[in-house]
Amino acid sequence: MRSLIDLTALSEFPQTSLQLAPPADWSSMGRSEHFVQFYEQDSFLTNSVASFMLEGIRQQDAAIIIATPDHRRAILENFEKQGLHPSEVEATGQLLFLDAAETLAKFMVEGKPDEARFRNVVGTLVAQATAGKRPLRAFGEMVALLWQKGNADAAIRLEELWNDLGKEYVFSLFCAYPMAGFGSNADGQPFTHICKAHTRVIPSESYTASPSADERLRTISALQQKVATLESVHKTLARRERELSDFLENATEGIHQVSPEGKILWANQAELDLLGYTANEYIGQDIRRFYADANAIEDILARLSRGEKLRDCEATLKHKDGTLRYVAINSSIYREGETFLYTRCFTRDITARKQATELLEQTVAERTAKLRETMAELDAFSYSVSHDLRSPLRAMQGHAEALLKDCAEILPAGAMESLRRIERAAQRLELLVRDILAYSRIAKGDVHLHHVSLESLIDDIIAFHPEISAHSDHILLERPLAEVMGHEAYLSQCFTNLINNGLKFVEPGATPQVNIRTELFGDKVRVSVRDNGIGIAPEHYNRIFQIFGRVYPEKLYPGTGIGLAIVKKAVSRMGGQTGLDSELGKGSTFWFTLPRATNAG
Ligand code: ADP
Repeated sequence: MRSLIDLTALSEFPQTSLQLAPPADWSSMGRSEHFVQFYEQDSFLTNSVASFMLEGIRQQDAAIIIATPDHRRAILENFEKQGLHPSEVEATGQLLFLDAAETLAKFMVEGKPDEARFRNVVGTLVAQATAGKRPLRAFGEMVALLWQKGNADAAIRLEELWNDLGKEYVFSLFCAYPMAGFGSNADGQPFTHICKAHTRVIPSESYTASPSADERLRTISALQQKVATLESVHKTLARRERELSDFLENATEGIHQVSPEGKILWANQAELDLLGYTANEYIGQDIRRFYADANAIEDILARLSRGEKLRDCEATLKHKDGTLRYVAINSSIYREGETFLYTRCFTRDITARKQATELLEQTVAERTAKLRETMAELDAFSYSVSHDLRSPLRAMQGHAEALLKDCAEILPAGAMESLRRIERAAQRLELLVRDILAYSRIAKGDVHLHHVSLESLIDDIIAFHPEISAHSDHILLERPLAEVMGHEAYLSQCFTNLINNGLKFVEPGATPQVNIRTELFGDKVRVSVRDNGIGIAPEHYNRIFQIFGRVYPEKLYPGTGIGLAIVKKAVSRMGGQTGLDSELGKGSTFWFTLPRATNAG
């Protein structure tokens, strides 16, 4: 690997190997020279040029200065300070100032210096200045301008043209290059060429400022040490760069860089595989081409250019074969200073996940629809069955009642007992039908919630349900009760069932006590119905909320086993939840939640 600055190559030049220092005064410079000065500070260069030229002008040499406007200004100022009036010297024709860019433009053709034009423009000037064998000192920085523009070949060619001119005319030519222009690794080779094109190479001021030969040797040693360090750093950096690019190339996630205009600058293999393109087909293209949705990519580019970071931004890309790829994008822009250089984008293929989710959603939607349909059919079925059961049931009840009443004297005692049993069974069946109908009614149809005052609702229940009002002394409303958003008929059904249960499930002979209270939890109200009854073992908590879910035999505690299922269904249809806290023998608290009443309600 080449070093950044090849010092060994420099030492091959006899001129530099012998000269450890630039000329202490410009008189040591030969009449026919072509030397190059590297410089760090403009002021150092313009002072050097001014003193080189001054010495010549004082010896009556001709002087041609081809400089940039800034350097020309600085050289003129320096002349004035040294007591020379440039305009007077210019007037005699001894001194000629030319603009570097303008002069260069006169002989450049398609990015190269044209030999014939160069001779015509520069050669003519040199011929005129050296007429009568007058010594000539020239300063030129047209080469530096070419170098600055990255046209190293043209700079080297121009140096050669000057050398050719030097074979015909005697003159001493001062070239200059800013050292900062040689910072890149790629500059090593052309730098060596430039040095070769000159009879002398004068290092920049940080070297030439050293006063003695000994110090200069030390400076060279220090520079050699720096080169060695730089070489090792360079090797490490090159290795790291190889490792890093290997890492990125082999990443399983797609990675690319896009210019601010949207051109793909680079992409790794995973990204190419994702979209089925080769690097040649993909890199250099406009990223917009690969997005299925034009608005989506415009939005992404706009967000990025505003400095936003994209996190898991979902998009759809087009594969080469025309199919779509769903991706999640993580991207942000890379700046150097204020300049937006490119966006780096990490693209994760989520096609499989997306398709699986879509399939799942579709399956869930289909099954939910089927389930709804089946449930609606079931509800309709149970409703109509229950409804239709009523008339034969009433007929049975009516006939049994008539027989009991009309034939009591002629029927034997056993037949009478059978008739009473038929009557009791019919009554129970009627209760069952009533409750199933109540459940079915709640399960179907739309529910609209309204503002409900629980206090007045429960007061009415206690007043108008004889089986409850008989125990009104044992029912306590812990006032005030909150107002809720609910369905009055459903709520009435819930409280009737819960209060009835609280009064019913007590130890034989015990006095029941039912307390009702509400608590606020944010925008929810929790309603509790607490009793001092027999309590419920935890293993029955779930079962008792199901239809026909009973714990005790009918003889012990009569009932249909549908009351709590109705409560649960009604609460859920009003958007709430139902629960239970209980311990066997220590009473139970049934609770449910409802939305709190809004003012508007
Ligand atoms: P039913 O009261 O008609 O039996 P429910 O659905 O109302 O039907 O109640 C289901 C079962 O839950 C009851 O049979 C009883 O075992 C139990 N249960 C309900 N409420 C209470 C309560 N307050 N205390 C103890 N057990 C209860």
